[in-house]
Amino acid sequence: MAIVVGSGAGGGTIAKELAAAGHDVLLIEKGPAIEERHAHRHYANIDAGVKVMRTCCLGGTTLVSAGNGMRCLERELRELGIDLAREFAKAEEELGVRELPDDLLGEGTRRLMSAARQLGHPVRKMPKFIDPDKCVSDGLCAFGCPAAAKWSAVRFVKEAEEHGARVITERAVDAILTRHGEVSGVRCRRWEAADDLVVLAAGALETPRLLGRLGLPTSPLFVDTFATIGGVCPGAGFHRDVPMGAFVSYSGGLVLPHYSRQLVALLQDRGHPVGPADVLGMMVKIRDQDAGEVGETVLKGVTVRDAELLIEGGAIAGAILERAGADPGTFVTAPLRGSHPGGTARIGVSVNTDLETEVSGLYVADASVLPAAPAAPPILTIVALAKYAAGRMGR
Ligand SMILES: Cc1cc2nc3c(=O)[nH]c(=O)nc-3n(C[C@H](O)[C@H](O)[C@H](O)COP(=O)(O)OP(=O)(O)OC[C@H]3O[C@@H](n4cnc5c(N)ncnc54)[C@H](O)[C@@H]3O)c2cc1C
Repeated sequence: MAIVVGSGAGGGTIAKELAAAGHDVLLIEKGPAIEERHAHRHYANIDAGVKVMRTCCLGGTTLVSAGNGMRCLERELRELGIDLAREFAKAEEELGVRELPDDLLGEGTRRLMSAARQLGHPVRKMPKFIDPDKCVSDGLCAFGCPAAAKWSAVRFVKEAEEHGARVITERAVDAILTRHGEVSGVRCRRWEAADDLVVLAAGALETPRLLGRLGLPTSPLFVDTFATIGGVCPGAGFHRDVPMGAFVSYSGGLVLPHYSRQLVALLQDRGHPVGPADVLGMMVKIRDQDAGEVGETVLKGVTVRDAELLIEGGAIAGAILERAGADPGTFVTAPLRGSHPGGTARIGVSVNTDLETEVSGLYVADASVLPAAPAAPPILTIVALAKYAAGRMGR
């Protein structure tokens, strides 16, 4: 048997892979099984200085993703001895990663892409795990897709169930049980499940807490801190675009088209008579320094280096927005957030290159193991890593 803790990008993949390989899998998820379109009700964000975002429900934070399916950290992982070429290719096939046709990207995104090109920035379409035949271009990816057009880990959980996996929701694992240096099961309050193969995939904010209670080493948090900058552009209709349909890379990370309701509220507060259709926005997502902590509380501030990268990216975003028709006299910036918490149980610190801890049979397979801030969407890498590790478990 195998116990998998958490059903997001990492846990959903592990459950599917192990169940398909003939393991008797028990998947334990803290949040409820929900309708995808209600995912926004299950955000469990943490104000840690920078607001750290995640959702707690079956499928984890994949339910609110923008569908970005980019390979990241490929070189860093190869340098650690992990070659994911095969797993990336398989993950792209299973998630259906592709570029979206121009008409789905939306007029605002096309304007921003054209402005970026005019300013000499190489701009590329974002690879997406969104089915263009189902996408209704409502801009609601981060709320939970109402059209089920986007891959989420729930699909992998369902596949795991088809292979016989048992799924328990609304139950949080609060302790890992060990005996003589080997894992022996998990505890959820007074309920226990026994097994000699346990995979932690509770996300980068919960997994290190479970490891810490066993006295196992953990590592600092990164979140890919981002700022959303925008200004008035009457009638742009950008709020319905598929978010982050394209990107510009710069030395600090990525600059991407991004609508946020916070921009509208900030502009209205400043007296601009705007509605959702009257705003153009861009996200600056940086490779933040991993100076965050996950303990009793979560702490994640902004270092001087982070601020420099945000300013550098902000200048690029501002110039693109202005060229695309947003009024620079109205520019506002939403409070800093981070949607890619990771790094808290790194390869080389908490786990080896098979993702196994020093407790025999206890593995980690979520964003916690990532070796560095990607400054890019990590789901595809988490899925590929989980596939890689699943093939090495229980050998
Ligand atoms: C708004 C938003 C948009 C995003 N868009 C993208 C994107 O387009 N592309 C991309 O690559 N990435 C995106 N991300 C990031 C991506 O969703 C996460 O990096 C990824 O889901 C992390 O995977 P994970 O397995 O580490 O954790 P999660 O997917 O968060 O899964 C962890 C699961 O563990 C459960 N859990 C927690 N504690 C316990 C416990 N004690 N017992 C049992 N279960 C527990 C949680 O409820 C959760 O279901 C986005 C994130 C946000 C917030």
